[in-house]
Order: sequence, then C-alpha cells, then structure tokens
Amino acid sequence: MTGYFHRIARDSWAVCKGMWVTLRTLVKPSITVQYPTEKLTPEPMFRGVLLYDVERCTACGLCAKACPSNCISLQNQVNEAGKRAPKAAWYAIDLGRCSWCRLCEESCPFKPKVVWHSIDYELVFWSRDEMVRCWKPGTPLAGWVHDPKKDAFRDPSGQVVIQEVPARHDEKGPKHD
Ligand code: SF4
Ligand code: SF4
Repeated sequence: MTGYFHRIARDSWAVCKGMWVTLRTLVKPSITVQYPTEKLTPEPMFRGVLLYDVERCTACGLCAKACPSNCISLQNQVNEAGKRAPKAAWYAIDLGRCSWCRLCEESCPFKPKVVWHSIDYELVFWSRDEMVRCWKPGTPLAGWVHDPKKDAFRDPSGQVVIQEVPARHDEKGPKHD
C-alpha cells in the first residue's frame, strides 16, 4: 500500500515538473517568424550574396586575382588617349562558381569595400545564366542577371532582397539586427 502511494506521489511530481517547463515556455517570447513575410536578419559578418559598387571601383583587378574559383571578370574603361582608365566598363561575378570565401572582399583596397558580402541569404535561380550577376556604370548594387529568353540583362527580380523585408524586432526575443 505504501508503495502504491509512493508511486502516485512520484508520478504526480513528474507531471508537475513537466507542466512547469510547459508554463515557462508558454510565457517566453516566440522565436519563430512568419517566413517569408517576416524574416530574421543575420549578424553583420554573415556572408550573403555579393554586392558591388561600380561607381567606386577602380578596376584594379585585385579581387579577380584573389578569387580562387575564378568567378570574377571585369574590363577597364578606355580613356580618350586609348589607355586603360581606373574605372570599370563592366564587372561580373558567376555566383554558381562562388564558394563564399570572402577573399575578393578582403583583397579590395577600399573602405568601405567596393565588393562585399551582403546579409541577403535568399537566392533562387532558374538557370545557370541567372547565376551570373553583371554590373555596368549606372547598375544598382545588386547588379543585373542575364535573361537567356530575351537575350538581355534585367534586375534580379524574383530573388528577394532581405534588406527590403522588415526584420522582426522584439526586445525580449533573440537578437535580430
Ligand atoms: S567569395 Fe570567394 S569564390 Fe566568391 S567571388 Fe569572392 S573570392 Fe571568388
Ligand atoms: S572591387 Fe575593389 S579590388 Fe575589385 S577591381 Fe574594384 S576596386 Fe579593385
């Protein structure tokens, strides 16, 4: 008989302990988000999609030399004397070959960097052509992608840029920005 009541007490205590864990979790802030309309923002050092500022680039080629995957190519503009000018006529990165090693960003001699990893972690490609981002003077930082159907360059629409999506701000929750 004593053993019977002992087991009831022991199991009741176990149920109470379990319910205490449930109650504590119930009042904690939620750590899930309503993706894709709501997104967590990665830490600043996160290596996301590469961005590039064609207006500040001197076309020195250091990033292309540093790239171990040989995925950066560029061409200098030519001045009136027919010599290479310190400006890029075009610049391209094949993201399909990129290993996200950050060597291109580190080799760029400018601060802030002219080519750098953004915190955008979303990439959806429908073809290998779309993996090539290309910039020319006047192109936005995200660059253009090649559309083989139209044989023309267009902005990477359809690929969500996380900076344009409101991040979840919750003072009591995990750090999001
Ligand atoms: S992150 Fe690495 S692999 Fe990708 S473009 Fe830069 S240097 Fe090349
Ligand atoms: S991005 Fe930087 S390293 Fe690369 S060509 Fe331009 S200035 Fe040079």
